[in-house]
Amino acid sequence: MKETIFANLLSHLHRGHRQFISPPICTTYSIQPEDIRTGVICQNCNRIGMEKYTGGWRCLLCGNTSRHAHKQAIRDWFLLFGDAMRNQDCRRFLHVDRQQTAHRLLISMSLERKGSYRNRTYSIQLDSEKHT
Ligand SMILES: [Zn+2]
Repeated sequence: MKETIFANLLSHLHRGHRQFISPPICTTYSIQPEDIRTGVICQNCNRIGMEKYTGGWRCLLCGNTSRHAHKQAIRDWFLLFGDAMRNQDCRRFLHVDRQQTAHRLLISMSLERKGSYRNRTYSIQLDSEKHT
């Protein structure tokens, strides 16, 4: 039930092309982060089931592949949780095991970086990333 609400909310927000969402959805709606289902959504079947492989992402449910599926997931993370994503947040939300992989995904987007290696966080301007 809750997931349906999120899906509607997110698609509404994406359509709105807002520059910045503040405060994050989790704060606004008093949602516990652990109640949010993590994972990368397949743009073909709209279900969470994309898995990282060398060339991109593959949906385990319908077989669709995408090179950019993580971008939507990372944008969703910022809408949900706010404005500072750590490598570990990225790995947990996208179901990526390797720190190096998460790093590559993060730097593939035009995110603003703050802090040095271990304490580095990333933030986004929601209208600066092209929708793919
Ligand atoms: Zn799929």
